[in-house]
Amino acid sequence: MADVPVALTVKAAARRGEPRPLLPIDRPPTAPAYFHVLAKPTGPICNLDCQYCFFLSKEALYPGDRFRMAEDLLETYLEQLIEAQAGPEVTIAWQGGEPTLMGVDFFRRAVAMAEQHRRPGQTLHHTIQTNGTLLTDEWCALLKEHGFLVGISIDGPPELHDAYRVDKKGQPTSAKVRRGLELLLAHEVETNVLCTVNAANQDHPLDVYRYFRDDLGLRHIQLIPIVERENDTGFQEGDKVTDRTVDADAWGRFLIAIFDEWVQRDVGTVFVQMFDAALASWAGAPPGMCIFGETCGNAVALEHNGDLYSCDHFVEPKYLLGNITQTHIVELLASPQQRSFGQAKLDTLPRYCLDCEVRFACNGECPKNRFILTPDGEPGLNYLCAGYKAFFLHADGLMRLMAGALRRGGYADEVIGVLARAGRNDPCPCGSGRKTKRCHSGVGTGSRVVSPPSVR
Ligand code: SF4
Ligand code: SF4
Repeated sequence: MADVPVALTVKAAARRGEPRPLLPIDRPPTAPAYFHVLAKPTGPICNLDCQYCFFLSKEALYPGDRFRMAEDLLETYLEQLIEAQAGPEVTIAWQGGEPTLMGVDFFRRAVAMAEQHRRPGQTLHHTIQTNGTLLTDEWCALLKEHGFLVGISIDGPPELHDAYRVDKKGQPTSAKVRRGLELLLAHEVETNVLCTVNAANQDHPLDVYRYFRDDLGLRHIQLIPIVERENDTGFQEGDKVTDRTVDADAWGRFLIAIFDEWVQRDVGTVFVQMFDAALASWAGAPPGMCIFGETCGNAVALEHNGDLYSCDHFVEPKYLLGNITQTHIVELLASPQQRSFGQAKLDTLPRYCLDCEVRFACNGECPKNRFILTPDGEPGLNYLCAGYKAFFLHADGLMRLMAGALRRGGYADEVIGVLARAGRNDPCPCGSGRKTKRCHSGVGTGSRVVSPPSVR
């Protein structure tokens, strides 16, 4: 728990007659101007039983709990979240478990409460991550009315999706998810797909990508590598990974195959979060994904009972910051415990990463995946390093090209025309040194060594 003086945090709140922390008059100097909270109103509870889900095991943290966010806590949370953001944009993000288990009325109230607490000039953005199986017309009407961005979890075509995404009886879920997605699309709800990359789909990148783009008509894609260690808490060098875990080299090949298709026809019309983040790094902008930042610590997880954790991937007793009914969220964010959590992302990088030519884009990715040894035996290298390095090196030439277009005031999708105009026997515009016909005419998979780009 953060070391915060009680007198500063818990004051009488006349409105509900309960003690509740108020926004400190002086904003703590270490508080981030903008932060992100993933709120889990049902805790880890879900109606499905996806085999790689790390949330389900979190039930043991709260034995005997009902796992439902109470109405009072909902209001306390929304009030704190909205008043604590220094900027005009506030994102209210719901996740689980499966948040739709709370029922549509919970979210109707949440939207109304948030609106009551919105300050003049503030814009609220509502997002929800769901498995899609419980969506109805009533749900979708609400989501559309309030402009929710909905993330729906799909791992590819049915045979790949159903490998691990099953219900409590072990039955496939793809048909139910598809029905939920169709409802979202029919109601014109802004939707993106969150696809985990795992041992089952890792060798089918284009089947997955084309299914999303062509069969489902989706335009926003998030790719999340599944990395599960045999022991699911703490860090132990030499940890083994489960057989569902994506292979590090396969992760690189997966990204490269999709990138090569994307860069030749889809830039500007299909948005792959990981590619956008990489392009931002090449263009010298913040990557927009915490995993690729130098430091982190500004994305916390809120449990159903008000407990706030350092990150959604670290919902463990050691990373409990406190409870927002006791200490205001902005003070928990500003606490020395949370600031050092975020700083550790940089401070614990092994020398191998510090010397890496693509560190500016990768930054050692997420600390949760740093449990292997570097080639010279230093602990703390990212399990996915081989894949990321291959991808970033492969993408370098075309990332430079796109970043250059952005710097000149142009558009990243100019790259499509550059590649299309290249003669088949000319050197590929990506700079690989190979002929275009053997590189980015069709699907190329080469990689090469680069020097760091001049723009960061
Ligand atoms: S621990 Fe990983 S997921 Fe969590 S905030 Fe840091 S980089 Fe992001
Ligand atoms: S690619 Fe590997 S060595 Fe380079 S920063 Fe990322 S994890 Fe570290």
